Amino acid sequence: MKCVMGKMISSGNEYERMLVDDGKIIALDNEKTAPQDAEVIELAQNQMLIPPLADCHTHFFQTGIYLGALDLSKISTKSELFSFLRWTTLNEYRIGEVVWAFGFDPQDNMPSADELQSIAPDVPIFLRRVDGHSCSLSSAAMKMLPAEFKNLPEDGIFSGEQQEKVVEYFLKKLDERTLIDAAFRVAEYAKSAGAFVVHSLVPFVEWAELLLKIEVKLPVKLEIFVETTDVERVKSLGLNQIGGCILLDGSFGSHTAAVSLPYDDEPQKNGVLYFTDDKLKKFFQAALNNDMAVAMHAIGDRAIEQYLRVAEYVAGENSLRRWRIEHSELISPEQIDRAANLGLNLSVQPAFENRWGGPDGLYAKRLGERWRRTNPFRREVDSGVLLLGGSDSYITPIDPVSGIFYAMHHPNERQRLNFKKSLDMFSKNVGIWMGKNFGEFKIGEIAEGVIVDGGFDGESPPEFELWNIE
Ligand SMILES: [Zn+2]
Ligand SMILES: [Zn+2]
Repeated sequence: MKCVMGKMISSGNEYERMLVDDGKIIALDNEKTAPQDAEVIELAQNQMLIPPLADCHTHFFQTGIYLGALDLSKISTKSELFSFLRWTTLNEYRIGEVVWAFGFDPQDNMPSADELQSIAPDVPIFLRRVDGHSCSLSSAAMKMLPAEFKNLPEDGIFSGEQQEKVVEYFLKKLDERTLIDAAFRVAEYAKSAGAFVVHSLVPFVEWAELLLKIEVKLPVKLEIFVETTDVERVKSLGLNQIGGCILLDGSFGSHTAAVSLPYDDEPQKNGVLYFTDDKLKKFFQAALNNDMAVAMHAIGDRAIEQYLRVAEYVAGENSLRRWRIEHSELISPEQIDRAANLGLNLSVQPAFENRWGGPDGLYAKRLGERWRRTNPFRREVDSGVLLLGGSDSYITPIDPVSGIFYAMHHPNERQRLNFKKSLDMFSKNVGIWMGKNFGEFKIGEIAEGVIVDGGFDGESPPEFELWNIE
């Protein structure tokens, strides 16, 4: 028997002693002494043991692909981009036939096809903006698009639905070996980041079938979401949920998130709704009839309103337990209460606030004073909504420990969560959503988790390591 002594946190409680036998937890309490025959393992003074964490929103294969792609996240202008591309051996970043580049968050503009052509003649480059809502193709990559792509933008900069089609086209060209490599790459990365469970959004049914085949060999547990409205097909795979980042609207960065009042910096725009109410009703009704939970991407308050309006219409007296709004960034207090009434979960990304929130961030630029209303975690928790924490990886890295930190350090002080509520988002709440034992230290469960050094009150997310006892 082994006896762990030190600070341990689980489901809102603090413990000082854990007894482990044969790799399983047999006791968790606040006794100060170890049983006589036990081997004692002491955590250091500044260490804290927390349960296994999860990431509830990842673009699974894309993350794996982008982990092998050219990373532009450190580059902030077009001229920096061009000198970087000049000095990079681009062919090392070919995935399939195309050089993939991602993470570009330009202060100025996305590069044009001609500009990319002059920097890297005849290299097919597919370069995505950090928020995933626009992309640039080089002239060589433009030429690869089949004839069904009509009215291509002359500058090679795509946004909106046309961008979605371009992404889909290049993704669908990837072969099975490339996809399996990508799956292992992201699963290993996630585990090393402390995410033992990964909610994996998959854009095509065929990819979900592939993932279901290899799932048991991966070092993490998955919950698979197929991003289609074909309920029967997904049901036949044995899944109880459908959707993911199926777009009701776009993003703030690209002025495509559907907002009820126009954008501050482009007052002629108020975003885009990609679904009609009718189409959404049919999808929700089919899901409800088949006992499937739906997850959809809605960022602006006008898109969230559409989700709620249609959900309320189809739900009648039913609770939509396990149904989710992904992101739900500009949700209003009134909408939070309606979400709580329906029993919805909100799947949120605290790292977005760290990256784009606050009075000087992108949200303030796009939304003006409304930056004070984005991601109201505190209000959501107070209303009894079950929050699920995620990264939206590849948009931000899989990193639940940082996610906990960012929820506690929300740029809007009134919306900060305390440590225990922040931890719940990435642990216990995920177990509740899955209806499985997860995210808590429980008797009979495997003794594993994450050791955090120095706590969450510092200037930046703490260091951590994976922990388990044989
Ligand atoms: Zn999304
Ligand atoms: Zn997403």
